Order: sequence, then C-alpha cells, then structure tokens
Amino acid sequence: MPSYAYFQKQFMPLPDAKMGVMTHALHYGTAIFEGIRGNWNSPKKQMYLFRMREHYERLARGCRVMKMNLAYSVDELCRITVEMAQKCGFKEDIYVRPLAYKSSQALGVRLHNLEDDFLVFAFPWGPYLDKDKVHCCISSWQRPGDNVNPPQIKSTGIYVNNALAKTEAIENGYDEAIMLTPDGHVSEGSGENIFLVEQGKLVTPAVYNNILKGITRDTVIELALKELGLTVMERPIDRSELYTAEECFLTGTAAHLTPVSEVDHRKVGDGEIGPITKKLQEIYADVIRGNNSKYLDWCTPVYK
Ligand code: PMP
Repeated sequence: MPSYAYFQKQFMPLPDAKMGVMTHALHYGTAIFEGIRGNWNSPKKQMYLFRMREHYERLARGCRVMKMNLAYSVDELCRITVEMAQKCGFKEDIYVRPLAYKSSQALGVRLHNLEDDFLVFAFPWGPYLDKDKVHCCISSWQRPGDNVNPPQIKSTGIYVNNALAKTEAIENGYDEAIMLTPDGHVSEGSGENIFLVEQGKLVTPAVYNNILKGITRDTVIELALKELGLTVMERPIDRSELYTAEECFLTGTAAHLTPVSEVDHRKVGDGEIGPITKKLQEIYADVIRGNNSKYLDWCTPVYK
C-alpha cells in the first residue's frame, strides 16, 4: 500500500516528495518535528490519531523558538493530517511524522531571513523498542540544558545528542540509553521519558531536568491519578534511585509504555514487569486504541 505525503502544499505519493540539497534545515538542524501515532482498532475498523492536537501545539511552540512562521493553524494541521492518513488507507498501526523546516535553498548559520515550510507523511510502524522489557544504561552523553539547546522543543538539531546516546547504548549491548543532566540528575531516554515506582508512588523527572514534556508522560500521569489513584511526583531523581526502584518504565509516542528490567546490570525489582507498570500498560493500550469511552476526546478517527 503506498504512503502519501503532504509536501510543498500538496498531497503526493511519498516517493515523489523530494527536496533540494541546499535546504537549510538539512545543514543546520533547523527544523521542528513531531511523532504522532495512528492506532488501528481492528473490531471497529477505525484508525485513531492519538492526541494529535497536543502534538501540533508542541510543534507550534517549537516554531516560535526557532523563529518559524508556520503558514497553518493547529486546526489546519490536524485537517491536513487526517486527509493524508485517509489517502494512505492503512489498516495497521502507523506513525505520522510532521516536520516544520527552514526550507530556503540557502546556506549560512542563522534562524532569520529564511523561508519556512511544513510537510507530513505516515508509514506503518510497530513497537519502537521491540522487546517486552528493556535493559538500559546510563549514557556518557548528557542531556543539554535550555541555554545550550532547548530540550523542551523537538528540534532536529538536538537529536544529534540522542543519536550519540542511542548508538553508544546499542554498541555496548543495551537496548536504550538514559541520559543525565549536566548536574547529574536523571533526565530521559533517547526517545522516551522515564518513570520510577518508589514505595508505590510514581516518580518522574521534572521539566527543569532538561526533559521533553512528553505527551505520553502527560497521558500516563493523568491515567495514574484518575484510574489508579496513585501519587505522582515530578522531582529530580538521582542515578542510584534507578538501581533501587521497585519498578521503572519508559514512555513515548513511538515506544508506548515500555518496562525497564535492568539498569547498568542491576535488576529493577525482580527484573520482571512490575504490577503498577502492567496495569498502566493495559489502561494505556485501551485508551490509545479508542476502547475507553472516557478518553475518546484524545482520539481522532481517520476513516468516515
Ligand atoms: N523524550 C524524547 C527525547 C523524545 O524524542 C520523545 C518522543 N517524542 C519523548 C521524550 C516522549 O515524548 P512523547 O510522549 O510526546 O512522544
């Protein structure tokens, strides 16, 4: 089945969407991206785009930081994305990749005096961390602070850091990297936020720990509070707390909710998927597939 893209203000087959070698964003990382899941509900024969509006609101915030004039409102971006997904017609889980970028065919390090454009495409993509539980390491690469490279926006430029961390982890035999802040606190994975369970409470790094404010993180916090009545704390986390936590898991649009079984060769709990992680995983899986009527506002149907 062919994928479609919305590119240079029109829909086209994905292989036809090509850009020039002098595109500014390619050279200097001057683009803002998003990742949105389309979750296929087979009994309902429906695809649900999960929290699409929040993803585009984050993209719009990134554009402000990067001095990009997005020619579309958040509502228009949502409409374009639904139409693009309809054209693709997939009947399996997909991943939608929007990109706002400095499109000028011009070199020179800057943000000003450049044209901006927007594209979006989709393709089938199953689980990102394709294991039921993962072994993480503490990365030798740190997550930069807001005055180095703003971590709260998804600029393509900051992902050099994440790619360095991820490949180091894989080459050293781990599944994923956990980056610390320059002051030594836990920040996040290379493409996921992180949560711990300590004495039955959920603990996750705060925004000032250089995290990306994940939409899955926000979803899990809301579900933990409303569905399980858990206490949730956003605070700095020490490295060794990862070694002593009862449970640990990663959250992200691509990774969903992935349990961490080991950190730096130390088992988390008994190394199996913990009870709170399991419950949250089950609730989350229903919510994103449009199977929980309480949270249907988060799910945009693709097909009529
Ligand atoms: N941190 C990083 C570095 C990421 O790339 C992602 C994936 N977008 C996340 C956290 C999780 O964010 P979200 O839940 O919004 O996908």
